[in-house]
Amino acid sequence: MSFEYLRPRTLSEAWDLASARPGARFIAGGTDVMVRLREGKVRAPALISLRAIRELAQIEIGPPLLLGSGVSVSELQANPHLARQLPVLVEATRTLGSVQIRNAATIGGNLCNASPCADLAPPLLVHEARVHLASADGVRELRLEDFFVGPRTSVLRPGEVLHAIVVDTPSTGRAIFLKKGRVQMDIALGSVAVLLETQGRTCVRARVAAGSLAPMPVRLRDVEKVLEGAELDDRTIATARQAIERDVRPISDVRASADYRRHLAGALLERAVRTLMNGGRR
Ligand SMILES: Cc1cc2nc3c(=O)[nH]c(=O)nc-3n(C[C@H](O)[C@H](O)[C@H](O)COP(=O)(O)OP(=O)(O)OC[C@H]3O[C@@H](n4cnc5c(N)ncnc54)[C@H](O)[C@@H]3O)c2cc1C
Repeated sequence: MSFEYLRPRTLSEAWDLASARPGARFIAGGTDVMVRLREGKVRAPALISLRAIRELAQIEIGPPLLLGSGVSVSELQANPHLARQLPVLVEATRTLGSVQIRNAATIGGNLCNASPCADLAPPLLVHEARVHLASADGVRELRLEDFFVGPRTSVLRPGEVLHAIVVDTPSTGRAIFLKKGRVQMDIALGSVAVLLETQGRTCVRARVAAGSLAPMPVRLRDVEKVLEGAELDDRTIATARQAIERDVRPISDVRASADYRRHLAGALLERAVRTLMNGGRR
């Protein structure tokens, strides 16, 4: 395996390098791309590191909250403002890989990988995050939910860089992220993020998203519709379980069967809703 390794200091330098090298790939933490290169799953004549581009490594508390794509998972985990403003994202960072992986891995790499199991996606989806995609032609903004199009496929165009993730804050409602892996440090067999805004026991706003339960991280609107406007009693929860088990599109693989994942989706949803109703998580 041999490739050119380039480390531009600005985005325009990165775009110049990319346009002169067809097939070159961007690399951030490298925790995914290096593994795939070594396994021969991707090929690249050149790797263009985004790590020295300072504007990608910024966090602006806002509002809105803006997370540069180059912020590492460890930095997200340690940021006291995020712990207050987006605790569900911080919760998800704790489940991602090991300390070593979290130190190198970036939020941008996690999303651009477009893996169905990307742990940072469901918490951002329930907060209706938007992404800024930058190229030499300018910046376009779209909803994160429109960013993913299939397994390991996103709408990123050649040469385009995920610049930042934007979330409107402060958020109303409380949110939770639950992930089930085979062992403590493993990618998700299934994960669910739920955001609920309630008045008494009535749900006035619900956002539900899942990882590893469809070809890409997804919002589950039919489940949200069951919860919104309903009293969060046993009957509503049972109907919501049926809805999520119907709506997810899991696969069977070496980790688990599709049937198991469907059941898991229902169990995680029920646990998430009951925990939030009982005052748990923010
Ligand atoms: C042992 C191990 C355990 C792991 N556990 C987990 C886990 O529990 N949960 C989980 O979600 N993931 C896990 N991962 C996967 C991986 O670590 C994460 O997805 C990580 O966030 C990827 O970030 P990165 O910066 O290392 O991405 P990189 O490997 O640098 O890049 C990934 C992809 O995104 C592209 N890219 C990166 N940044 C940008 C950008 N700004 N603009 C455009 N394209 C870009 C690259 O070209 C590449 O295609 C694990 C990986 C390993 C090796």
